[in-house]
This record gives sequence, C-alpha cells and structure tokens, in this order.
Amino acid sequence: MLQPVWEREGSPVNVGRTHRIVPRRTRRLIEDRDRGCTYPGCLTIHHLECHHVTHWADGGPTDMTNLISLCPHHHDRHHTGDYTIHPDPEHPGRFRFATRHGHPIEPLAAPPPPDTAPPPRYTGPTNEILHLDQVRFHRRGSGPLRQ
Ligand SMILES: [Zn+2]
Ligand SMILES: [Zn+2]
Repeated sequence: MLQPVWEREGSPVNVGRTHRIVPRRTRRLIEDRDRGCTYPGCLTIHHLECHHVTHWADGGPTDMTNLISLCPHHHDRHHTGDYTIHPDPEHPGRFRFATRHGHPIEPLAAPPPPDTAPPPRYTGPTNEILHLDQVRFHRRGSGPLRQ
C-alpha cells in the first residue's frame, strides 16, 4: 500500500502507520499547535505527552490530525477510561472531550479578573488602525512606470 508521508523542510511530519513513536519534529509541531495540555481548562504547558487520539493499537496513525498534547495526569486519566477524545469533524486538528458517559467537557468559563485590561488591539507600526475598506492595493506594474 502506498503510504503518504507529509514533509516539512525535508523531514517527515505525518508518518502514518510507519512509526508509533512520534518523531521529534512532529512533536514540536503538535506542541506548537496545542500550546499546552488540550484537556479543557487544564493549564499545564510542561512535560506534555503526545497521545494518539485513535489509539495506535486500534489502527490510529502517527499524524498531526490524530495526535494531541496531554499532560501526564490527563493522559493517564484518559487511558484509565475517565473521558474520551474525538476528532472535531468541523475543525481538523481540533478535538472534542467527553465524559465516559458521553457528556461534553467544556472549559470552565472563568470570567477574567476584574482589573485585567482587555488585550491591546493590534494597530500596526504607525499606531494607526488598518481599515481594509479604506486601503487600495495596486498591482505592481499597473501604474505609470517610475524609473
Ligand atoms: Zn495516549
Ligand atoms: Zn492536563
């Protein structure tokens, strides 16, 4: 069978069923994407482990869309059957968590502390807000030639 292998800068990223162990590069990309344990509300960002969402033993590939970062605690809890993880069909690379009874696990919607300012708005290098409807982009070479 032909096995597609995605490459990034010459190194395989998605190695499918050829490797169970997640290549270091792939792990970096997963950690970059997830930025911490993906269990809803968990804030752990260190000692992350890569988990096969469709377990390797069940035929799950070592691919970005089947890998997820979990802290050791949540990784253990998943493998002891405390909760399930399913790929989100609407958002490839994102996952849904549910209790063992099938109830979705949502992040605790904690309101931000009252004295926290909202994140500053991106204003660009000149501190002006870019209004895209007021900007026109000219294709290079379409205007009068300047030499
Ligand atoms: Zn696992
Ligand atoms: Zn966690």
